[in-house]
Amino acid sequence: MSGFCCPVCGKPLAVSDRVYSCPGGHAFDRAKSGYVNLLLPGGKHSKAPGDNLFMVDVRRAFLNRGHYRPLCGEVCRLLAADAAETGRPGFTVLDAGCGEGYYTEQFRAALKETGRPFTLLGVDISKTAVDKAARRARQAGALLSEIRYAAASVFHLPVPDKSCDWALNLFAPYCGEEVRRVLRPGGQMILVVPGERHLIELKEAAYDHPYLNTVKDPALEGFALLEQRAVSYPMKLKNSAENREIDNLFRMTPYYYKTGRTEQARVEALEELDVTAAFECFVYRLL
Ligand SMILES: [Zn+2]
Repeated sequence: MSGFCCPVCGKPLAVSDRVYSCPGGHAFDRAKSGYVNLLLPGGKHSKAPGDNLFMVDVRRAFLNRGHYRPLCGEVCRLLAADAAETGRPGFTVLDAGCGEGYYTEQFRAALKETGRPFTLLGVDISKTAVDKAARRARQAGALLSEIRYAAASVFHLPVPDKSCDWALNLFAPYCGEEVRRVLRPGGQMILVVPGERHLIELKEAAYDHPYLNTVKDPALEGFALLEQRAVSYPMKLKNSAENREIDNLFRMTPYYYKTGRTEQARVEALEELDVTAAFECFVYRLL
């Protein structure tokens, strides 16, 4: 089985080189890059929901510079420790809102290093994003048995009940009902959100009145909070001819879309900036 289920009838989907198919006779072609589109026409908010090519490309350009690797490393360590301890056939990890797969690919590499069996599922509503994610996996030599990507909504996950050991959510929309449904009893979840001082210097550079982020109360219905870990470190960023790191970072944040041309121009004029990366990493267990 593929780890995904049919978005039409809910039966498990089997996967071959070209197609995902269910026992009910529904079939979904794999794209050239390898992902499968499990968004049903009626279920989409728009023709091309989620991040567009511009958003995917700036995020990819920034993340590929490695500035968020320390954060990713924290999540990799947590996952790999559990996989090494409890790894068994069917050990399944879901990256809900995986974007263009920067983190997901590193999770795969970390799980693979444990030498234990695993399946990693990446889901994102943006076809553009999962297409890039699938290409990234292919370039890294990932096997179809290790990682599979689907275009789907985190509010209607094409994933069977009680089938996942872990659910990961890094800066993605959160749907508690769906995550609780797909986790096995005792399954765990990692939720990563921006910390209070995340990118504060970037905001100071752009705005007359910068504000701190509000970190919500981490209590979540149906989950016990096992651990809260702050991950914070300085980043040295540059806007050079080859790499517009500062511009790309600004463009991948929600701030960019809420600001006017004046603030955007201030950021574009920067050549160097020391910026704080600050994340809150919450680890939960399903009650
Ligand atoms: Zn079906």
